[in-house]
Amino acid sequence: MQNIFSALLSIFYPNTCATCGDLLEKHEKCICLKCLYHLPKTNLHLQKDNELEQRFWGKVPIFRVAAFFYFEKGSPFQKLLHHLKYKGEKEIGIMLGEYMGVDLRQSADFAAVDVVVPVPLHRNKMKTRGYNQSELLAKGIAAKLQKPLDTDTLFRAIENPTQTKKGVLERWENVEGIFCVKNKETFADKHILLVDDVLTTGATIAACAAALLQCENAKVSVASLAAA
Ligand SMILES: [Zn+2]
Repeated sequence: MQNIFSALLSIFYPNTCATCGDLLEKHEKCICLKCLYHLPKTNLHLQKDNELEQRFWGKVPIFRVAAFFYFEKGSPFQKLLHHLKYKGEKEIGIMLGEYMGVDLRQSADFAAVDVVVPVPLHRNKMKTRGYNQSELLAKGIAAKLQKPLDTDTLFRAIENPTQTKKGVLERWENVEGIFCVKNKETFADKHILLVDDVLTTGATIAACAAALLQCENAKVSVASLAAA
């Protein structure tokens, strides 16, 4: 009965791969196996002092940085980010987070984090969009690492950076005060895994890390879905 129902449902709502658009097999979810196989994974979680970590050297002390796959404009995998960010497909975010978590578990550094924290959206943006894409990823990661997810303690205090402020985030200048920590005791002595969707200049991550590192003896690592 269940099968008849899902067969009927798939006529009206066919499940297609978020990357190539092909129909998904019954055992596939969101992305087909072929696309998953071709995903340009970075595997940088297995490499200490990697190129992403070097982006932060001399700026903010971040313990480890990893990204799930390399992102290039115009690549078919750009669609994954589009589904995640704009189409409100929450399932895909959690699923990608789970894939990330499975990879991160292979690294002793990442397996040892204490808490998983998404890069927060400002509450007004959260209201209009309805969800935070980084939170979906963080949820999937936390489930696979079997660590708690904290979406309250780190928050975004400044909503819409003016043109100048936006420039600041891109240029790595004074980013103080954009992100804040509610109770500094919450993250004292904790290794925090900060989760983002796309790592580009790293300025947003640096601003979050700077806020988190105000907690006594805190350590910050980063997991991003994609690295540009
Ligand atoms: Zn596909």
